[in-house]
Amino acid sequence: MTGIVHIVGAGMAGLSAAVAATEAGRTVHLYEAAPQAGGRCRTVTGADGFTHDNGAHVLLSANRAARGLIDRIGAQDGWIEPEPRGLPVYDAHAQRLSRIGLSPWSWMARDKRPPGMALADLPRLARLAAPLVPPLADRPIGPIFAGSALHDQLIEPLTVAVLNTPVSRASSARLGRALRRVMRPGGARLLIARNGLGPDLVDPAIAWLAQRGAHLRTGMRLRAVEAQDDRAAALVFAGGTIRLSGDDRVILALPPAEIARLFPQIHAPTRFEPIINAHFALAEPLPAEAVPRFIGLVGTLAQWVLVRADHLSVTVSAAEDRIADNPEPLLARIEAEITPALEAAGVACGIGERRRLVKEKRATMTQDAGGAVYRPRPPLRGLAFAGDWIGPLPATIEAAMLSGRDALAQIAEERP
Ligand SMILES: Cc1cc2nc3c(=O)[nH]c(=O)nc-3n(C[C@H](O)[C@H](O)[C@H](O)COP(=O)(O)OP(=O)(O)OC[C@H]3O[C@@H](n4cnc5c(N)ncnc54)[C@H](O)[C@@H]3O)c2cc1C
Repeated sequence: MTGIVHIVGAGMAGLSAAVAATEAGRTVHLYEAAPQAGGRCRTVTGADGFTHDNGAHVLLSANRAARGLIDRIGAQDGWIEPEPRGLPVYDAHAQRLSRIGLSPWSWMARDKRPPGMALADLPRLARLAAPLVPPLADRPIGPIFAGSALHDQLIEPLTVAVLNTPVSRASSARLGRALRRVMRPGGARLLIARNGLGPDLVDPAIAWLAQRGAHLRTGMRLRAVEAQDDRAAALVFAGGTIRLSGDDRVILALPPAEIARLFPQIHAPTRFEPIINAHFALAEPLPAEAVPRFIGLVGTLAQWVLVRADHLSVTVSAAEDRIADNPEPLLARIEAEITPALEAAGVACGIGERRRLVKEKRATMTQDAGGAVYRPRPPLRGLAFAGDWIGPLPATIEAAMLSGRDALAQIAEERP
């Protein structure tokens, strides 16, 4: 492979492919439709100057592909563990805060155990984490924990956090794959970007690529891929067409709906789940040593709150029932829910006037039990697909980054 690697889509999958291709010594051209890179992982600034990420994204130390990329681009100092003593979780019904270990191994210690966990839960947890013979391998997660206190205290919040799909129908096989990775030694540390996804991930990746001659072109919406014989021959963008040489390769790191538009014959997800994030600016900044904090909530619409020095970001995953709600009442409800949780966690902050609701209607694909695992076969030579929807893992940053690397490997192996 000696030609240019053209990568379309500068989300996590595209950036991962671009870094891997650059490392392999390839000439990389990266194209993005939006004015900035990052895709569903981005820092946004409103007209009022209020800056925050679109979501409250977390990584786990088990996410080796993501951490590998972060190390390679020199951004590792930006990724920190906000709650090394265990995740504080506020139960709104009991009005009580407990600290829960994220590693199942840590539950040997009583004070790290999810509240209400009983001996009878152990075989259920084992069924979730241990590989079984298909079709037993995949089933809705909720019914496995019917009648157990663990359902509300751990399984539902964990499921919507990882799979962004209601627990009543979410896939045990996908969650199980993620759990097995987290159970490996050192795999259960929760990490967040110290200053945000832009400064701690996207910007350093773009800078790293630029230093090595791989430049990003924004405002480049791909309209079509032209074929000659069975090869990708040209990329037709809104602003012009780029002809490909026989040695060039293409990675389309695009969301499933875009792939389906470009190649209707490709089997790609058609159902998606929303995530809503509420962002509240703080009246006064918190001292640097007091942040960041990360607090889980149960028994509320709000599922977790990320506390930064100057704002709070609150997540509602699997938010189909709320996506049509008016922003103001939703913001007021979320503010009322998080106030006691912050107090219980010892976060003393005043919420200011600026607030914003970000609704991502297609935050991830639906990840139901029995749903397909997508492994799209490229319809043309010289072309590969990448994106979080590809492969058997939950649709996350990790899956996106793995798919970017895999796509490069696919086109590298291909004969001209
Ligand atoms: C609110 C929210 C919270 C999340 N929280 C987490 C979390 O805590 N942890 C986690 O691991 N994951 C989380 N995720 C999921 C994670 O963000 C995604 O899995 C990941 O970012 C997907 O990356 P991607 O590159 O596959 O797709 P995308 O990010 O969608 O990237 C695709 C890129 O292609 C561009 N594009 C689209 N069409 C075209 C075209 N025709 N031509 C050129 N470019 C085009 C888009 O603008 C975009 O930049 C969250 C997602 C959301 C929305």
